[in-house]
Amino acid sequence: MKIMKFGGTSVGKPERMLQVAELITKEAEPKIVVLSALSGTTNSLVEIVNAIATGEREQAKKHIEKLEAYYQSFIKELVKEEKNYKKAQSILAEHFEFLHIILKISFSEALSKDILAQGELLSTKLFCIYLEEHGVDHVLLPALEFMSIDAHDEPQIGSIKVKLSQLLQKYPDKKLFITQGYICRNYKGEVDNLKRGGSDYTASLVAAAINASVCEIWTDIDGMHNNDPRIVKKTLAIEQLSFEEAAELAYFGAKILHPASIWPAQFYKVPVKLLNTMDPEARGTLITEEAGSVGVKAVAAKDGILAINIKSSRMLLAYGFLRKIFEVFEKYRTSIDMITTSEVAVSVTIENTPHLKDIVKELEPFGSIEVEDNHTIVSIVGNEIAETKDVLSKLFSSLSDIPVRMVSYGGSKHNISLLVPSSFKTRTLQLLNHGLFGLE
Ligand code: ASP
Ligand code: MG
Repeated sequence: MKIMKFGGTSVGKPERMLQVAELITKEAEPKIVVLSALSGTTNSLVEIVNAIATGEREQAKKHIEKLEAYYQSFIKELVKEEKNYKKAQSILAEHFEFLHIILKISFSEALSKDILAQGELLSTKLFCIYLEEHGVDHVLLPALEFMSIDAHDEPQIGSIKVKLSQLLQKYPDKKLFITQGYICRNYKGEVDNLKRGGSDYTASLVAAAINASVCEIWTDIDGMHNNDPRIVKKTLAIEQLSFEEAAELAYFGAKILHPASIWPAQFYKVPVKLLNTMDPEARGTLITEEAGSVGVKAVAAKDGILAINIKSSRMLLAYGFLRKIFEVFEKYRTSIDMITTSEVAVSVTIENTPHLKDIVKELEPFGSIEVEDNHTIVSIVGNEIAETKDVLSKLFSSLSDIPVRMVSYGGSKHNISLLVPSSFKTRTLQLLNHGLFGLE
């Protein structure tokens, strides 16, 4: 059995749903298809949530009406037969009625999660009607019946496994299952989600849970690229990555894959393929335990980074100093990306956080604290790069004009990370594209 996940742009237009239907019916292997919301929908739902949260009900109502009008025109194109059109209309009625009711009740965190879940519920139900019209036999598996997270928002893989296999056992003769990405239940049994872009994570968790032959992630680009195509002129798709390399790239900014989506596939040894709905024959990127080749494969950038510098002469020859510092970050559940130390100072980077003030306050007893915002981590990712000849010399000679603030090298064989002021990000990525890949 395999998993095929389609992102918002792959199902965002009625004609795209046709492409998806063709792709999922091409071969006989049984599959679970994971769908995102139609592109733009989750953003609109976020706007609705924000408007309701700030008491702007009129504004929220406008957003809901606009979204509804969009779906009304969507279903007109999606299905031809009257009976299917009626079915699609009753689905829209159900979900938009729910949104209108929400306008009248008092706001809560749980309610906002219910609102955010509407996108995936709509896309999967509409897609199933489309399949029905085209005579494609399938079963809709409600993600809310098997996908769950614990009190720390971590997926409960054991329970997902059991529930999903029980559900699948009900349909021994079926070969095509459709389910929602992104949405799940939390430990209180409420509707929740796996965070923005979380459909990839769903796909990987489902792949792990059923020990799938492959987890295919279909988007609108032909795999992971060696650099950000929005910033440099020429980029190339990467043929093969190890799970470690893919995780570093996803975490450090390659937008194509949700960063958490690697570990389930890696742990359960399910290969992941990144493929392009618009160009299904393109090779895409294969992610397995094997890296395929040695050397630098890609660079990626992550914005919104703060550098915190803690300077103290008391650190000199003191043990336990770092532990005390790390405990502060742990307390505020803030993860550290990069760290460099000298005998009297330590610099760490974190993503911008609402807890910054508290963190700084608690660090103050340890020394003088300096915070620099607006930084970007540029990561150079590849296989055995720390040992690959010339990487360092090429790297630093290409960047001689860039005020590199921190360097992290040697922590992993797959990554060298640099911290640069965000205003130098574009230039850094361009210089590296030339210096490391010989591309413009
Ligand atoms: N629809 C959700 C989002 O836009 C999940 C996803 O697309 O993966 O974040
Ligand atoms: Mg998406």
